[in-house]
Amino acid sequence: MRKLNEFIWETHGIHVGTEEDHVKHGIDRLEDIVDKAIEANNPSITFIIHSPRLTSFRYIAERDTNVKFIRGNKSYLNYPKRIANLRKKYEGQINIKYGVELEWMGPDLGLQWSRSKIFQAEDADYVIGSVHFAPEGLPYDGSKEEALELLKMRGSLESYWDGYFNEMIQMIECFGDMIQIIGHIDLPKLNVDMPEALVHFETSSHPLANKFRTLLELIADRNLSLDVNMAGKVKGVGVYPVQSILRRANELQIPVCVGTDTHHVRYYGLNYKESLEYIQEAGYESYVSYSKLIPEKRTIFDDHDLKVKYTVLNKGIELLNQRLDNTQRRIIPDFSFGGSFLEFVDIYKNATGMGDYNAIRIRKWGKSITVTNETPKMSGNKVKGLFSEHLDKPGVISSLFNTLASEGVNVETARLKSNNDGTAIAFISIESDNGNVKNAIDFINGTDSGLFRKLTYKENAVLPNYYTEGVYLLEMDGVRLNLALHEKVILTKHHNTPGVLLILLSALASEHINIIDLRLGKLNDIGYSAVAIDGDNNVIKNLLSKLGEQFYEANLIEFHSM
Ligand SMILES: [Zn+2]
Ligand SMILES: [Zn+2]
Repeated sequence: MRKLNEFIWETHGIHVGTEEDHVKHGIDRLEDIVDKAIEANNPSITFIIHSPRLTSFRYIAERDTNVKFIRGNKSYLNYPKRIANLRKKYEGQINIKYGVELEWMGPDLGLQWSRSKIFQAEDADYVIGSVHFAPEGLPYDGSKEEALELLKMRGSLESYWDGYFNEMIQMIECFGDMIQIIGHIDLPKLNVDMPEALVHFETSSHPLANKFRTLLELIADRNLSLDVNMAGKVKGVGVYPVQSILRRANELQIPVCVGTDTHHVRYYGLNYKESLEYIQEAGYESYVSYSKLIPEKRTIFDDHDLKVKYTVLNKGIELLNQRLDNTQRRIIPDFSFGGSFLEFVDIYKNATGMGDYNAIRIRKWGKSITVTNETPKMSGNKVKGLFSEHLDKPGVISSLFNTLASEGVNVETARLKSNNDGTAIAFISIESDNGNVKNAIDFINGTDSGLFRKLTYKENAVLPNYYTEGVYLLEMDGVRLNLALHEKVILTKHHNTPGVLLILLSALASEHINIIDLRLGKLNDIGYSAVAIDGDNNVIKNLLSKLGEQFYEANLIEFHSM
């Protein structure tokens, strides 16, 4: 038996910091839990907050106070700011995630209300869609009396659950583009029994079983994840969802998230390991967590080497998703694994193998990213190009490209390395010397002599290595790049003709964005560039939006996963 992790990357995490309200709900201080998580040596902590409800959707306890209030409204609006401050305060100590649990309150005013609330979740790492209330205004997870009142109104257990599933389906249809995760899918079991048709939903011909199968398929087809929620266990009704649902979800390849959905600091960390045992029982070996709406794969096993491989995988997922728009990001990609990553082929059902090729390839929507943590080997290929020793500051590389472009010389690829002493070296390989390279060198020595120490052209040079340990972007759309990943990377796909790349480099130089490393590749007349840079995100994004139509794609990639 392989050892399971003691820690989980929660999604439906801890509901706290909602401040004093007229009915207490998750009011512990945020700092207290962060401190507790740090004390436990945990790498991350996940907060979750309910979106506020319309006043017609209230629990008895809320109706029974003599004050009229919208629960959590104020704390919800302030939450992103408080989380941002918390992230600053604990920077370097712990990773802080937060998400929103969006309330389904029907397709009319409730939907508009929720849409209006989603703006406050702009910075959230994920959004869970949950049905807590029936359209009749009664909660599924309130008191027994409230549930029995609803049961009486609906007439039977079957129609009680049928109503709930109808609401879930409608929520997915309406919220589909706003949420990543479906919250506690069998929540009603908290107060009422599951009818036979549901207990045996896998084989039953009852309409309720059919409806539930449809719901699960909808979750799969919409690329949503399922919340495996330990709160049900604490409340004595068993984990949400029951094993049979989870097994089916696994067959449908629905990713799962794990979370304790706890509301008190004293329960922090409770049932972590049990949640992994629970999903393993249903056949899962991995689950997902989220950063900035992008899923991160996590292993259930306490295995260092495996975790390192997942880090590589998650960086690849982040790279690919940030090349795509929001709708495309939601689609679960296809995977290929090779070399030391081959074991993933068994974990991700539709994955294909790549034999000895020690890499992970992730693809969707006609785009792909290939990553590895193996340091690329020297190719030994003989190339021609320029060796440069120059000042390590913004604009220098751009001036080199500028002069080459002025002579009509197209750059094939580049290798950059900072000496960390204010100087840097570079090798710029060129496709073919059109006879003007020497000319270009003379021009550089004439106009930019202050920036360059040494500039030499070699015909039979070996591509220098300059590689260090890390995660590498091996390929973009199958084209070799071999860029060592830094905190921020620009990826472009562009028309491969002299001068086009200069547009990008000049744009960066204009805002003094420093280039740390640069790799180029091409396929037919399409050029690819991967540029490791350092600079302000908004400034960079603004530049990238103005590159012009020769750039088919230009994206800033940042890494949030751990
Ligand atoms: Zn909930
Ligand atoms: Zn919750």
